[in-house]
Amino acid sequence: MTNIMAKNLHGRLRVLAQNLWWAWHPEVIRLFTDIDPILWRKVQHNPIAFLNQLTPEQIENRASGVALYSRINYAFRRLNEYLERQGTWGATHCSNLHHRPVAYFSAEFGLHESLPFYSGGLGILAGDHLKSASDLGIPLIGIGLLYNQGYFNQRLNADGWQEEDYASLDIEKTPLEAVTDSGGQPLVVGIDTRNGQLRARVWELHVGRVRLLLLDSNIEGNSTEDRELTSRLYGGDKRVRIRQELLLGIGGAQALQALNISTGVMHLNEGHSAFAVLEEMRRLMEYDQIPFDRARRRVTLCTVFTTHTPIAAGHDRFAPDLVEEHLGIFRKKLGLSHNDFLALGRINPGDRSEPFCMTVLALKNSRWANGVSAIHASVSRRMWHDLWQKRREVEVPIGHITNGVHVLSWLAPQMHRLFQTRLAQDWTIRMVHPDVWEKVADIDDGELWETHQALKTRLIHFVRRRLIVQAERLGHRDTIEQIQQILDPQVLTIGCGRRFATYKRLNLILSQPDRLARLVKDPYRPIQIIFAGKAHARDHGGKQALQRVAQFCFNPDYKMRIVFVENYDYNVARHLVQGVDVWLNNPRKPLEACGTSGQKVILNGGLNLSVLDGWWNEAYNGQNGFAIGRGGIHNDPDIQYQRDAEFLYNTLEEEVIPLYYDRDRSGIPRHWIQRIKNGIQGLGWRFNADRMVKDYAERFYLPSANALSSDDNRLF
Ligand SMILES: *Cc1c(COP(=O)(O)O)cnc(C)c1O
Repeated sequence: MTNIMAKNLHGRLRVLAQNLWWAWHPEVIRLFTDIDPILWRKVQHNPIAFLNQLTPEQIENRASGVALYSRINYAFRRLNEYLERQGTWGATHCSNLHHRPVAYFSAEFGLHESLPFYSGGLGILAGDHLKSASDLGIPLIGIGLLYNQGYFNQRLNADGWQEEDYASLDIEKTPLEAVTDSGGQPLVVGIDTRNGQLRARVWELHVGRVRLLLLDSNIEGNSTEDRELTSRLYGGDKRVRIRQELLLGIGGAQALQALNISTGVMHLNEGHSAFAVLEEMRRLMEYDQIPFDRARRRVTLCTVFTTHTPIAAGHDRFAPDLVEEHLGIFRKKLGLSHNDFLALGRINPGDRSEPFCMTVLALKNSRWANGVSAIHASVSRRMWHDLWQKRREVEVPIGHITNGVHVLSWLAPQMHRLFQTRLAQDWTIRMVHPDVWEKVADIDDGELWETHQALKTRLIHFVRRRLIVQAERLGHRDTIEQIQQILDPQVLTIGCGRRFATYKRLNLILSQPDRLARLVKDPYRPIQIIFAGKAHARDHGGKQALQRVAQFCFNPDYKMRIVFVENYDYNVARHLVQGVDVWLNNPRKPLEACGTSGQKVILNGGLNLSVLDGWWNEAYNGQNGFAIGRGGIHNDPDIQYQRDAEFLYNTLEEEVIPLYYDRDRSGIPRHWIQRIKNGIQGLGWRFNADRMVKDYAERFYLPSANALSSDDNRLF
């Protein structure tokens, strides 16, 4: 082989690795695995780190050894075809956005386990939004922060107590590219505050056809304190938080201006980025020489705000002094007095003691606001009713678009192959159509079950590997032999992965220990449970709840059938949602805004067992999963807890377990499989991110862009 060929191959793999498109194409992931499966796992599925460790010659040798040439070339062509495709949904329907894309602001983006820019659901949702916008061909650009240390890594100590550690990101091992200004210098944005200028440089990531800009304060010229500003997600106090949000909102909008990107629509994914509207107003005032009120009307017309939490503490509020310190200089550019400025973020502008709330700023300055499920929207209308005191609660202008998940990111390759052979050829680009999913009825029960069982086995092996690493770290060498046998693919496997926040009530299933022991130890129809989840570093209650779970693990009363997997992240979530029989979700209603992890389970052949909150309240029909309770809410959370626990055990004992173990002569649970199929057929087309992003485009993005391009100057 010639050297030029070798360079070509390595070069092509690098091109593939530079665009996150690879992360939702199983055949490309397969390429990396086939080149060197051990290294691939060792670098934690990070293709750049992977390629950094292999010379072109080594790749060449491996590729010819396992005949990968044509597959690499094919993947390379597919990427280029994808990037250049003309007839996308967006090309046909979103022509107004082509010169004025959507700017999608979010404090988190969860795209893959190798990019630690997320902590949980909000970030994963934003990542899925970008990927679907890319697949659909909707002109959209993401704006976020580059966290050098991301969210923490979780370890449990010998007492089952959570400890946190932070690893620093090595940019050389990421596909991040430095963004340069027109003079070829690194692009830097700066915000003047009363105690100096806060600066950040800009990086970008390619997510299919979509660009994601990330601001990074770790540059020379910033104070030591500021250099660490973007190092951690949700790590600091209010001061850190407002400075992060200044960068995200004002710095992000400045970056777009510096790149000559005129935005048609601003989409604020949660209130963290709401300062962006102010910078856009400032720009219009300067550029068009118009007064603040007109600039404000214009910006508002093209702004969409999505709120994500019914928990009061989830809405940032800043003391007036802190706001003045950071935005005092900026507000003068808007020509506003101290109080007029604060009024933008106050429910009651006359109340001088009221803090400045980012959600209020977003609600007051957007044309559309939405929650992420029907229930969440109604809770939000109640929560923010005071902003519209003259209206009745039902008239508060907060609607909903229910979240969905990016199917190709969450679907197991084995399931993907099964769908590929049974559904229409173009199912991946037509998944919002119900007819695409009807053919699931034709999939052979045995084949579906076999595929699911293989995925469950894969999950169990993953859990064992993780537990062995943990046992070695803790010096529990004596348990390793036991761990190698832990969990059984024939046993009904319940998964429960989510943040250990109090309202999520991960301990509900542990609340009657004897009853649980009976279920776990049942000689004929046992269950096993896999937990995962992080508690916020400062959430003592969450850590206690986690410790309680840990106490059930390795407890002989439970036959090692309750386990906890450390460090819940994208990778752990993917294994869990692809391999469990049942996904357990029992937050305290109505505090679950939407919940998306259960949606990932459905297409992989699992069933949901969930309280009727968030998306599940819209999805459950009695035949496509299981409900905990009947959707009631009690004012006393303790009573609600007891009731829901009772409902949970009853449903397990009376419905879930009998159905799972009801087998025909060949050992196949026909009725269980019918529920799986009902789930895929009835829910697949609704709870995916393509449907969600299309909803945003049709209801918000396009009307915004139309308003901008109309000649109706009265609007402005
Ligand atoms: C999907 C996902 C979430 C969000 O799921 P919820 O149902 O809201 O808990 C959070 N974290 C990770 C890692 C996920 O993959």
